[in-house]
Amino acid sequence: MIIPPSHPRRESLLIREKIVEGYRRGIVALEGLIAHGRGECFDYLLGEKTHDFALKAIKASIALLLLSKYPVISVNGNTAALVPREIIELAEMIDAKIEVNLFYRTREREEAIAEWLKKHGAREVLGVGEDASATIPELFSERRRVSPRGILVADTVFVPLEDGDRTEALKRLGKKVIAVDLNPLSRTARAADITIVDNIVRAAKIMVKEAKIMKNKDRRELEEIIANYNNNEVLQQALKTILNRLEKLSSSKLTIDI
Ligand code: ATP
Repeated sequence: MIIPPSHPRRESLLIREKIVEGYRRGIVALEGLIAHGRGECFDYLLGEKTHDFALKAIKASIALLLLSKYPVISVNGNTAALVPREIIELAEMIDAKIEVNLFYRTREREEAIAEWLKKHGAREVLGVGEDASATIPELFSERRRVSPRGILVADTVFVPLEDGDRTEALKRLGKKVIAVDLNPLSRTARAADITIVDNIVRAAKIMVKEAKIMKNKDRRELEEIIANYNNNEVLQQALKTILNRLEKLSSSKLTIDI
């Protein structure tokens, strides 16, 4: 599809195209298209930009990932379709494993995602086929199947675009969880230790940039960033941003350009 450069929703439409392309390649599940739509709605309300509260969460995430002994990035279809390069770059920066973990798991989709990530430069992708031989208790979906070399033994799991059940299950296992979710009201957003309320497309780029900078900080500085971080405050700021924005818009003359 050709989207003119002047189109006011160009960025959003280009992202949509990536998701659709991911679906055509067998990477994104049909349900992933709907989940993306829910995200788009919140992005619209947030003004489609990265706010300070997201930046704060990104910095805390990178600090936590750098301090972790065994960080793992859990990748689903939408994440793989939208930010494959950024996930690989980030994994290299923070020395993390990459693991495929799917709600709607099929062997074909696992393999399509692993192949897609390898095509973008990933050296190893866990959680494919027999490698997903361990089980996380208390989860009923196919997401309970994990790699014994990955999520099972991780101390911190970065789960962009997660569902609430899994975030809660990972927490119960004593893992630190970092999520990216445009919806500050979702169970994922509320259950995670750190929630980046931003579009994964924008957030992942900033995460790579921050990882490059923060890699050189000493341990004490990183620990201080985490000690000063409050996820509840960040979620409140996200909601207040939506509220203030709508308040302002609802009391002004509505033009086409918001
Ligand atoms: P929960 O189970 O946590 O309450 P949910 O039922 O909304 O949440 P899903 O149906 O898995 O969970 O929805 C996926 C979530 O991902 C949604 O909350 C949506 O806002 C978010 N999301 C979708 N696309 C993006 C994106 N590109 N960037 C960030 N977040 C996104």
